[in-house]
Formats: sequence, structure tokens, C-alpha cells
Amino acid sequence: MAPTHVLRCCQRGLAWIPVIFIALVVCWSYYAYVVELCIYTIPCIAEKIIYLVLFHLGFIMFVWSYWKTIFTRPARPSKQFCLPKAEKEQYMREERPESQQEILWRAATNLPLYTHTGAGAIRYCDRCQVIKPDRCHHCSACDMCVLKMDHHCPWVNNCVGFSNYKFFILFLCYSLLYCLFIATTVLQYFIKFWTLCRRKSVEHCPKNELPETRAKFHVLFLFFVAAMFCISILSLFSYHLWLVGKNRSTIEAFRAPVFRTGSDKNGFSLGFRKNIAQVFGDQKRFWLLPIFTSQGDGLTFPARLVNTDPEQPTVSLHPEANKPTEDEQASAFSESNNHVQINENLANDEPKHLENDTLSSAGTITITMESESLRGEETSHLI
Ligand SMILES: [Zn+2]
Ligand SMILES: [Zn+2]
Repeated sequence: MAPTHVLRCCQRGLAWIPVIFIALVVCWSYYAYVVELCIYTIPCIAEKIIYLVLFHLGFIMFVWSYWKTIFTRPARPSKQFCLPKAEKEQYMREERPESQQEILWRAATNLPLYTHTGAGAIRYCDRCQVIKPDRCHHCSACDMCVLKMDHHCPWVNNCVGFSNYKFFILFLCYSLLYCLFIATTVLQYFIKFWTLCRRKSVEHCPKNELPETRAKFHVLFLFFVAAMFCISILSLFSYHLWLVGKNRSTIEAFRAPVFRTGSDKNGFSLGFRKNIAQVFGDQKRFWLLPIFTSQGDGLTFPARLVNTDPEQPTVSLHPEANKPTEDEQASAFSESNNHVQINENLANDEPKHLENDTLSSAGTITITMESESLRGEETSHLI
């Protein structure tokens, strides 16, 4: 077996460690809450039943959305975005970026593309050999182009993008509710255990009144862990709700998409209600279920400026009409080359880490972005 293959297998195995960690914490929290708290500690039967029913409702929704976020495969560009065989061979043979772009522009004639690189070139992934649809980015962790990529999340060992963004939001929502529910219901027993521990020794502990048992350890930790996750998830969840309201991905929040009219971070924003519908669909009864209801196909997105900007009446829906003239392209290439050079010069100064949102104090979610250079290796991994 080749060493690189072994290395890749090891990397894939290690990537599951955060998921296994979360799964173990969830299993322990289930045992601690159901067995140690509800069965052994809570004396009132009615309280036991209410807690157990609500807990299991939250637990099922949480596990369901987590499962869907992990195991929904990221959507990749369809075949129509691949270069035809002849063009691909021609592209590979061609060394000059100008000629390569000519090939790409020809191939992209009938494709619904409204965004391009900062230099005005067609966004092309050399690694996947595919023209990138709008909002699509290459993830170097998954080694593939992902439609409407948001970020690569190590806590689910998967790319969060068009196919599972709704599941990811619901996963955050239900994990927050799960932790909140545990923290609030455990609080009174947490205080009782704590005060008993301080005021009375084990032999003075009255019968049937929270004696010093192993349940104490579980209940104390349950509260600490739930409260800690609550705070961490709340910030991440709020941030993603804000992104949904703006119809912006995490990558677009860091780097605005470039349209024919220039870069515009609100380029895909259609208004609050429509933005919500883009992710959750227009049928409210499915909003809280981890079932795919997002609008569109992930390849094309309604873009605000393309149709409605009165300042830009010449912008057409047809990508060919947006194609720059040869002069513009030449200028774009030189800009692009300058850009690449500048980036190379600043390589040591530019932050290569885009630390996104903290899920827990134990670690951070990182996002992966590709540099949209005109040619060459596109995947620079920002962790
Ligand atoms: Zn790619
Ligand atoms: Zn990924």
C-alpha cells in the first residue's frame, strides 16, 4: 500500500474523533439524566414522567438532525459543469491563462453563472476539473467541490453546504434546546447536592433526601457540561441564524461574491422572508424537521442585482452577455497575475486561519476556502 494512501486512511480515521467524542458525551448525558437523575434521584413520579417525556422528545430530534448533518453527502456540481472531453484536453494542453479562459468562456456559454473571480475570470476548479457554479467552493478536507459550501465542520466530519445546511441549523437548534433543558431541570438537584455536600457529612444525611451517592457526581457534571455547551452553541447558532436572514454563507461573510457589477455581500439576499424560505422551504410545518426542504437545486440561485439593479440595465440573465470583451479579459488576466503576485508577497502576512465559530471551549470549527487564482492549484486550505 502506498504511503500516501495509508496517510489518507489515517487522516480519515482521525477525522472521526470529534464525532466520537460528541457521541460519547451524548451517551453519557443520556445515562446520567435518565438513570441517575430521573430514576434514582427524583422522588416525585409525576415530575419523573414529565421530564422523561420532554427529554426523549428533545433527544430524538437532536440525534436525528445530528445524524442527517453527518451522513448527508455534500452536493457536488452536475455534469453540465464539467468540460466536454475535447475542451478538457485542450485546456490541459494550453499553457497560457488567456487561452484557458477562452476555453472556459466558451464552455460556460450556456451555464447559469453570475459570479466570477475577483479578476473577472470564470471560476474553475483544477482539482475537480469543473466550472464552479455560483456559491460553490472546493473543500480540501473533502477533496471535492461542494455546492453552496458554508464551511467544513470537524464536529460532524462533513462539509456543511447546500444539501445539509438546514440539518446543521436544526442540529444547533436542538442541541441548544437539549442543553438548556438539561441545565434548567438539573439546576435544583445540583443546588441540593451542593448544599448537602457542604452542610452535612455522609452519616448525617437524612434518608430519602439526596444522599451522597454516585448520582451526585453525574448530576454535578451534567449541569456543568450542559451549561458550558449552552453558552458555546448559543453564539454559533445566533451567528448562523443571522447568516440565514441575510442569505449568506460563512465563506461569503468573509469574502463577498463577485458579480458582474462588482463584489456584493448581499448579492443573494432576497429579503428576510425569502431568505428564510431559501433554506427552510415555504412550508412552515416542515421547518423544524430534519427533512430536506431547501429551495432550488444548489446550482443556481436568484441573485438580487442580476435582475433588479436599475443602474445596471445592460446586465443580462444570459451569461454570454456578461462575458467581458477581449480587452477586459486581458486586463483581468494582468490584474489576476498581479493579484497572485501580491498574494505571494503577502503570504506570510495574511492570516491563513479563518477561525469560524466556537462550538465548545474544547475547540473551534474551521472553514476551508480556496483561493481563486486564475490557474494552478486552487485549494489553499485555511484552517
Ligand atoms: Zn474542486
Ligand atoms: Zn469538506
